[in-house]
Amino acid sequence: MNDDVKRLLQEKYINEGYWKQETFSDMLRSCAEKYGDKTAICDSGSSVTYSELDRSADRYAAFFLSEGIRSGDRVIIQLPNSVEFGVILFSLFRLGAVPVLALHTHRKKEIASFIEAASPAAYITVRSHLGFEYEEIVNECVKGTGCRHFYADEIFKVKADTAFDSSENDRIFTDIAVLQVSGGTTDVPKLIPRTNADYIYDARTFAEVCGMNEDTVFLAAIPASHNFCFANPGIIGTMICGGKIVMAKNGSPDEILELIGRERVNITAMVPSLLSICSEMAEWEECDLSSLETVLVGGSLLTYPVLLKAEENLGCKVRQVYGTAEGLNTITDADMCAELTAGCQGKKISSGDEMMIETADGDFAPCGEEGELLLRGPYTIRNYYNNPAADADSFRDDGFYRTGDRAFIDTEGNLHITGRVKEQINRAGEKIMPSELERILDDNEEIERSAVVGVPDELMGNKICAVVVTDNASVDLAYIRGYLESRGVAAYKLPDIVMKTRQIPLTAVGKPDKKKIADMIENEEMERI
Ligand code: AMP
Repeated sequence: MNDDVKRLLQEKYINEGYWKQETFSDMLRSCAEKYGDKTAICDSGSSVTYSELDRSADRYAAFFLSEGIRSGDRVIIQLPNSVEFGVILFSLFRLGAVPVLALHTHRKKEIASFIEAASPAAYITVRSHLGFEYEEIVNECVKGTGCRHFYADEIFKVKADTAFDSSENDRIFTDIAVLQVSGGTTDVPKLIPRTNADYIYDARTFAEVCGMNEDTVFLAAIPASHNFCFANPGIIGTMICGGKIVMAKNGSPDEILELIGRERVNITAMVPSLLSICSEMAEWEECDLSSLETVLVGGSLLTYPVLLKAEENLGCKVRQVYGTAEGLNTITDADMCAELTAGCQGKKISSGDEMMIETADGDFAPCGEEGELLLRGPYTIRNYYNNPAADADSFRDDGFYRTGDRAFIDTEGNLHITGRVKEQINRAGEKIMPSELERILDDNEEIERSAVVGVPDELMGNKICAVVVTDNASVDLAYIRGYLESRGVAAYKLPDIVMKTRQIPLTAVGKPDKKKIADMIENEEMERI
């Protein structure tokens, strides 16, 4: 996209009042002034008020500065949902550093790619979480790269009592505030530059649409770093309104149900598979869900039976949300019937949002016609971070972002997602690109050729199925998962199913014929191993 278009859009969002002259550091300061002694964040072991969070942000900003981290430096944070996540995040904002929001499920491959793309000054993680030792990533990806490394518990052992000199932070509202990570339409996630002004506007607007206020108690049930939980309206939206954030550390259904009762949670955000498991569990588990008013559900396709069961068993309203870390959000109306809520993704949240459907010829399609969903608006990005090849693929000259989603918009302005234009597997909201796994599988001497496809699954939306051609009888599901894991592939990308075949069907140009492969799996023409 040309720089004039970017400049004109930026001027429009400033002049029309979408963007405020505020950074995330300013936002916390004004929350502390307004909501002082109210609890901002709690987890199973501790809590902080808005004032305490503001003071901690100052002290740890001074600590990071004393460790050589400067305003504008990128810092990867890979932390579980916790009070510490909030303190470290806002200390970096206070300093003017730019957090790279890695998910706890990211492994060597993803972290190495973030280090390469963002040249971060530091990587901050815990020692272990949910059975994974992060030392492996530290030793194999971080050491020797010039990127510093901190374990969170070491940071909190430091007696951080030096005042922070705010003149060290030279960031302004239009600067990049965080680097989000994409759902992974290429081999590894792309970095998404979200500015202070656009991301705060997104969270504030979304919080208004959801009716958040000082009585809001938001449960961070999915990873806090993920765009949906972070700012759609998530933890940032809750803070802007002076509500309380409850961090679910493990994200297991029993923890979620227990926290809803204990902390009187009234709103949370989930992917459909988690919603389904929680509502199943609520059916037979003794739990108090009387405070719960709304569950926002997004990230992958929601079905009507899952929605109905959730509303019945959790006793709350389910609203469907469409979101991408790249920007634009939609949400179903609060008073929409259950059938339509499950059947569409709702309306855009801002009058500045532009949703268009592009036909195969590159024209804009009329209402009701299907095509690729294009997005532009005050909080939709206009480029990726340091990635001109992805920019050329994903952005039109007029600034529209190509989502890769197939969709249509109805006469009421509701978005309907109907599938993907680009090849991608959506497994319980996690996005997996088959080519990433295929390349690694094809490297294995025991495997002659491979193809990876999604197979429909009621709970997850899709399961990951690897189809392999091999003579070795010991190649099976456990072998393939172990091999991919040893090559640094994240756990959420590991195949659920492995099929063996004598030959991968190919298209005319010699690529695996994914449609035919899916048909062969469905017709049980392959051997499951
Ligand atoms: P991410 O960047 O990981 O949040 O993934 C964004 C992608 O998730 C979108 O481009 C869609 O493909 C998918 N997605 C998000 N919300 C929904 C939804 N409500 N229904 C279907 N797919 C969705």
